Amino acid sequence: MAYDPNNVFARILRGEIPCKKVHEDEHTLAFHDIQPQAPVHVLVIPKGPYASFDDFSANASEAEQAALVRAVGKVARDLGVAEPGYRILSNIGEEGGQEVPHLHVHIFAGRRLGRML
Ligand code: AMP
Repeated sequence: MAYDPNNVFARILRGEIPCKKVHEDEHTLAFHDIQPQAPVHVLVIPKGPYASFDDFSANASEAEQAALVRAVGKVARDLGVAEPGYRILSNIGEEGGQEVPHLHVHIFAGRRLGRML
């Protein structure tokens, strides 16, 4: 999948549309999902132009990959959900249900989340 520089998260990264930011570092940004599906629903994205986890895992630098993993864990701890727990999820491609073509990791928490699917 070629990267579309006009996708909504690219526009958030450029400051063209607002977000409710919860974390930012050199390589990542995290913000509240606009249509939360749990009491806590936050998205963590890389700043680099990666269309999906597939693209990111193949092409991002080690520093970018480490930063994303660390940001997800830190955001969850900062939100106070590491205990009693949370779920991370990334939709990839058409059959994975991905709507926005910029890698994002969903963090869901704040209620008992039930089975995986
Ligand atoms: P996915 O189906 O995994 O691609 O999820 C895309 C997510 O992006 C959905 O949960 C949307 O609610 C969320 N979303 C779309 N536009 C925005 C926005 N402007 N700010 C925050 N979240 C958004």
